[in-house]
Amino acid sequence: MSKTDIQINRITADFKKAREKFELYEKFYLGLSENAKEYLRSQSREYKNILSDIQKIILPSIMSNCPTCIYNCCKLHTPELSIYVAGSLGCFDYVDYLLVRCDTILPNPYYENAQNNLCPFWSDGCILPVDCRSFYCIKYFCDKLKEELDMQLISKYFKKIKNIISNFSTQVCMV
Ligand code: SF4
Ligand code: SF4
Repeated sequence: MSKTDIQINRITADFKKAREKFELYEKFYLGLSENAKEYLRSQSREYKNILSDIQKIILPSIMSNCPTCIYNCCKLHTPELSIYVAGSLGCFDYVDYLLVRCDTILPNPYYENAQNNLCPFWSDGCILPVDCRSFYCIKYFCDKLKEELDMQLISKYFKKIKNIISNFSTQVCMV
């Protein structure tokens, strides 16, 4: 088997796994009780508010750099400049998926993007609402953005997100 065939097989397997995981997260969300949803709502509000606050800070730099950037950091082709991680859709794990999915209908992923090793939430830009990104995506900044932005300020917001995620109770969601 050629190196390219091995890579294609690996990408296909990674993607299949990612899709299955993602569909399980959705199934779990749809099965939540009203009590669990009430808990989730309070956590989700906090998470989304922080993401919106971060977006307000970073948007001017994003607008001035990303549209003309020659890289696409939502691809795996440029590993040193890549947000998107293999084996995931939108880099979500189940906690941040539940937090963003709460009371929000997310756009359908473009599964065909997998053939180009590109995140399924990419279509000429990220199609997810700005307050509905995974923690992994929101914390990615390329060197150019890092130079321009006040990363110390942003890291304070990251700390708050980390707290929400690490204190999130899956158990409460299961009753
Ligand atoms: S985040 Fe950086 S690497 Fe990614 S598109 Fe914007 S400028 Fe380019
Ligand atoms: S979810 Fe959006 S920001 Fe994250 S890798 Fe995909 S397209 Fe990029």
